[in-house]
Amino acid sequence: MKELSDARMADAGLRLLVKRDDLIHPEMPGNKWRKLKYNLAFARSSGATTLLTFGGAYSNHLGATAAAGAYFGFGTIGVVRGEEHLPLNPHLRAAVEHGMRLTYMDRKTYREKTRATVIDALHCEFGQFYLLPEGGSNALAVRGCAELPAEIEEDFDVICCACGTGGTLAGIAAGLPPGRRALGFSVLKGGQFLDAAVRELQSGDSGNWRIETEFHFGGFAKRTAELDGFIDDFERQHGIRLEWVYEAKMMYGIFALAQRGECKPGTTIVAVINA
Ligand SMILES: *Cc1c(COP(=O)(O)O)cnc(C)c1O
Repeated sequence: MKELSDARMADAGLRLLVKRDDLIHPEMPGNKWRKLKYNLAFARSSGATTLLTFGGAYSNHLGATAAAGAYFGFGTIGVVRGEEHLPLNPHLRAAVEHGMRLTYMDRKTYREKTRATVIDALHCEFGQFYLLPEGGSNALAVRGCAELPAEIEEDFDVICCACGTGGTLAGIAAGLPPGRRALGFSVLKGGQFLDAAVRELQSGDSGNWRIETEFHFGGFAKRTAELDGFIDDFERQHGIRLEWVYEAKMMYGIFALAQRGECKPGTTIVAVINA
């Protein structure tokens, strides 16, 4: 945990702390490890030897699953959205170097990947496997992420994270002590669907969270000059180079809300950094 000293926060009467969950492991950072942990234990105890999961070509989850498979002795299959592009990008190359077998799925089928017919076809092709949903987000992932708040020793009011599938936010919110709130920042355009996703992942609604949907900068893995400027300035001021797909959008959002006066003076904010 590190407190950032920043005039924009101080002027709004706020404290901003960062939790460096990215430092947990270089290949299975933060939320990716938390989401895998109980899934790996369950896969092992149910006798599975292969993990299969889904992701876009820039998915951090595919790489983390490949690394986990290599460390814990599972075969891994990554179902990638869209067509194969060669040479592989660094994300997918790292996954393959950990022994992940990649297969590609057209976008229409990919949208229907939770259907039994699609999963049955994958079983026909690849045999038995333990299925991890896209982003690794399921009930066991929520349980893993729910362990995060208890690791924070300082008192705080609001905890923030970036949202892709909503699994990390669902878990953090589920693990919060009474009176604290979780705030997610969608990195996807049209992130309103995430509200329902979080409720489904929590099998209910812990009622202590909210998702900001306006800081997507054009959509997933899209960036603008304004965002890049924010990243450079943040690095100059705080010595942390924010990862741009997720973390920079969350941090930009936190500063924007603070400067608009949307946070009560005296509030302590924790920003969770996962990459
Ligand atoms: C995967 C990822 C997220 C999104 O987590 P979800 O549980 O899918 O919402 C956020 N930040 C980083 C750095 C990630 O790699």
